[in-house]
Amino acid sequence: MLNSDQHILSVVFDLDGTLYSSPELAEEIAAAADVAVASARGVSLDEGKKLIRTSRQRLTEINDEEPTLSLTCMELGLELPDLHRYFEIEVKPERYLLEDPVLKSLLDSLKPICDLYIYTNNNSALAERIMKLLGVGTQFRKIYSIEYCWLPKPDREAFQKVLEDIGGPPESFLFVGDRDQVDLQPAKELGIKTLLVRETADLLQVHKLLGVIP
Ligand SMILES: [Mg+2]
Repeated sequence: MLNSDQHILSVVFDLDGTLYSSPELAEEIAAAADVAVASARGVSLDEGKKLIRTSRQRLTEINDEEPTLSLTCMELGLELPDLHRYFEIEVKPERYLLEDPVLKSLLDSLKPICDLYIYTNNNSALAERIMKLLGVGTQFRKIYSIEYCWLPKPDREAFQKVLEDIGGPPESFLFVGDRDQVDLQPAKELGIKTLLVRETADLLQVHKLLGVIP
């Protein structure tokens, strides 16, 4: 196998919505956030939902883009570790995810020519469960989960730490994600190559960028 772009040595993937797509699981994560906010504020579940909706609308108006769930909840005074404790209890990816042999073979074909990483706003316990269910629990060299520095994407400081920890010049990286602003913008600002994934089939583009036939 030839790597036509010899510069790319590290491919950093977002997890949720990038390596798999499950509206049901995304809904369950959102519902867990409703419970977390309601509990933290001591209000009913309906009130919690309303608070999140209002916070999201406000942040969307201010920043002209939809905020992440992390930011929406932080804006309501919720501590991220508390939010993730709820995710761990309430979210059951086992209900929705199955092994994905196509994804597994795509990643297997990349592994000999570059190191693969996950950089996610999800917590490590949930991320590992999700990856195991998809059948890709061993393909990645390291997972940068929310616990890495408790600064959810997009965050330039956390992004720099991830880059430094992996090591290598900007041209040795490729960032892959389903949200341009969240997953790719900090990379773009440094001239790092990026790939926006609208559906999991778009992951094949990684191979094209690297000159690999999966
Ligand atoms: Mg995502």
